[in-house]
Amino acid sequence: MREDGFSGGCQCGAVRYHSTMAAEGVHFCHCRMCQRAVGNVFAALAVVRKETVTWTGQPSFYASSSVAERGFCARCGTPLTFAYPDSDWMSFTIGSLDDPEAAVPEVHCGVESRLSWLHVQDGLPVEYTDSKGERLRDMVSKQGVF
Ligand SMILES: [Zn+2]
Ligand SMILES: [Zn+2]
Repeated sequence: MREDGFSGGCQCGAVRYHSTMAAEGVHFCHCRMCQRAVGNVFAALAVVRKETVTWTGQPSFYASSSVAERGFCARCGTPLTFAYPDSDWMSFTIGSLDDPEAAVPEVHCGVESRLSWLHVQDGLPVEYTDSKGERLRDMVSKQGVF
């Protein structure tokens, strides 16, 4: 990553972002909601303070639940961000970074939904979703009933 920050964007180039701080708390999230939101078997996310982020072009947002919103490019569909609106922090999908090699994951989150056939033996710690915790206990999913 250039300097301390990083840049990235969607696959069509209509939406670009830059953060002036280096990513922290880089993680995999295996939770079912992240799987659905990124259309893949896990999300890989890099966390920064919202105030360090500037955009070129306009991301669109989908409230995937009553407590979270996920940014994406409305033109090409690339998943870009995850955030709790009441938090000072937000996450970018590592695959949308210009230099994903520089965002090194530190932990596997949401492992209660990790797929049984996905064997990642990287020695990183694992965390379970705290669905009874203060933020999520009253969460209402907006991912529908399938
Ligand atoms: Zn795009
Ligand atoms: Zn998740």
